[in-house]
Formats: sequence, C-alpha cells, structure tokens
Amino acid sequence: MIQETKQPLIKILICDDDPADRKMVRTYLKQITGREIVLLEAGHTEEIQNALDKGRIDLVLMDNQMPGKSGMEWLAEIAKKQLAPVVMLTGSGTEEIAAQAFQEGAAGYLPKSSLSEEKLRGTIDAALDKWTRLQQAMADKEKLERLATFDSLTGLYNRRAILGKLRELINRANRYKEDFSLIMLDIDHFKMVNDRYGHLTGDEVLEKVAALTSRNIRDTDIVGRYGGEEFILILPQTNLSSAWVVAERIRTIIGKAEMKDSVGNVFAITVSQGLCGWERGEDAYSLISRADEALYKAKQKGRNRVQILLGPSLRDKI
Ligand code: GH3
Ligand code: MG
Ligand code: MG
Repeated sequence: MIQETKQPLIKILICDDDPADRKMVRTYLKQITGREIVLLEAGHTEEIQNALDKGRIDLVLMDNQMPGKSGMEWLAEIAKKQLAPVVMLTGSGTEEIAAQAFQEGAAGYLPKSSLSEEKLRGTIDAALDKWTRLQQAMADKEKLERLATFDSLTGLYNRRAILGKLRELINRANRYKEDFSLIMLDIDHFKMVNDRYGHLTGDEVLEKVAALTSRNIRDTDIVGRYGGEEFILILPQTNLSSAWVVAERIRTIIGKAEMKDSVGNVFAITVSQGLCGWERGEDAYSLISRADEALYKAKQKGRNRVQILLGPSLRDKI
C-alpha cells in the first residue's frame, strides 16, 4: 500500500460495551485514509484495564455509558495519569455531558448520533494535536523548573534551591527537635587556578569538587552551589562532632584528587570549610552568616582546614 502521508501509526482503543456501536466506530475509522491506525477494542472494565496496562495507546475513544466504572470515571483516571488523549463518545449528547467531559480532561467529544468518518477524523486529529501541545508544554515546564532549581555547571542545587532546602529543614528541625549541621565550603586560591590554567579548567575543577562532595555524603545530605566557588552542605540529623568527621573526610578527598588542565598538567587544590551546628530557633540567615564567619577564620588561619564556630548558646557554656 502506498503511504499517502508521513503521519505516524496510531494505536486507538475503542471502549464501548455495545458491540454494534464498536462496529460502527470501527467502520468509520477504517474509512480514514492518510493515517495508519491500529484498532484495539474493549467492552468492559477488565478489558480496558488490560489494554491500558499492556502498552502505549495513542488515543482512547470512550463511551460515556459503560457498565461498572463509567466512561467519565475512566476519562478522569486516564487524564490524571496522562496515559493518552481521550475522546468521549455519548449516546445521547447533552451540553452538560460535554462540559463535564472537558472538565475531566477530555481531548475531544462526539455524540454517536452525529458520527461520520469526517467528524471522527477531525476530532481525532484535533485531540492528538491538543495532546502533543500539552505534552510539550509539560516538558517545557519541567525544563524550566530544572533550570530554576539546579546549577547548570555542577548539576547541584543552585543558591535559591539550597536556601529553600535549608528553610524547609529548619522548619522540620524546629518541629521535631532535631539537630543538623551546615558546612560552607570554599575552594582555596581559586582565582589562581583560573589565572594559571584558564577558566575552562577552573570550570572543570568546580565540577570535580561538586562530584567529589556529593559522592562522599549520605543520600539524605544536601549539597548546593552557593556562589562561584562556594558550596553549602546541609547534614540533617547530624550533630557537630559527626559533621566534623564528614567535613574532614571531604577536605582530605578533595585535597588528594588529581586535577588536570587542558594539556595534561596535573595539580591539586585544597578547600576550607566553615562548620556550624544549627541551634534551636536559629534562622537561615543567622546560620549561614555564622558558617561564613567560620569559613573566613579558616582562611585566616592558613586555609585547607575545617573551622567550627559555635552558636551563642554553646559559646556561653564554655
Ligand atoms: P580564597 O582562598 O580566599 O577563597 O581565594 P579565591 O581566589 O578562591 O577567592 P576569590 O573570591 O578571590 O576568587 C574566586 C574566583 O572564582 C574568582 C572568580 O573569577 C572565580 N569564579 C567564580 N565562578 C566561577 C566559575 O563558574 N567558573 C570559573 N572558572 N571561575 C569562577
Ligand atoms: Mg575561594
Ligand atoms: Mg569565595
């Protein structure tokens, strides 16, 4: 057979309990030219479920009146799970049913009384088109959300996201009276890396530090890129002494890692870290400021080290 157009093959599932109605729909569908259509039929709940479970369906033609689970209920479920576009077919079409169908997420609507090859073709084309646009819009939305959440160079949470995570954790820790620790990590003399080996090598160093850091913490720990060469690590349910062990481990691992420039020169870098245990009632701003102060002290003391700065309540006790 000669292919009239390059439209892809579509799999249509006809759901109708009446075999005569199924036959009528099938007959019209077979008259459609320019599209290769594979037809599947289901007459009751179990058959519909089986067909949906079995694999990809491109479009569902759903009779409104079905025994057991109604057509409208099926529509709502299929639309919610984003399985396929659904065109509702009704025996006695009323505006109320049409309105409800669209409300539940139908991609099209057709009363059986006015069924024809032409109407079916038009409705199916429009439903498929609507579906494609919807899927595209969702993919675009997901992409935007990803861009708004993750740092494009390192793949870590970006500044905004890590601050959001910190605020969430503070709320939880306040509610459940949990401990947690925060580390502000900054690459030492990173400007020199850029100056000596070039900005691209600098970028690779950032990627490597990000990878080494996230690979060497627990799944429940959270890491983000706070600024240029500055990272924040949040360690939930971790007290200061456990967090110290983590910080020292990361410092050692990064210090030992081999960095390479574009022509294969090998070099090493070090990092400094400011470490703080969160204190009950403390807000994100205060905790980050404290970690920043600790980091500054680590730099002053000669870099390549972890510096703790106790919060006011512990400081008073010492
Ligand atoms: P210190 O030990 O005191 O932290 O010194 P430093 O040189 O690491 O710190 P400084 O803040 O002086 O310089 C940070 C440098 O990081 C300057 C900036 O150009 C560089 N930087 C920031 N973001 C990026 C990036 O995305 N890629 C590259 N390659 N460099 C970056
Ligand atoms: Mg630095
Ligand atoms: Mg810095």
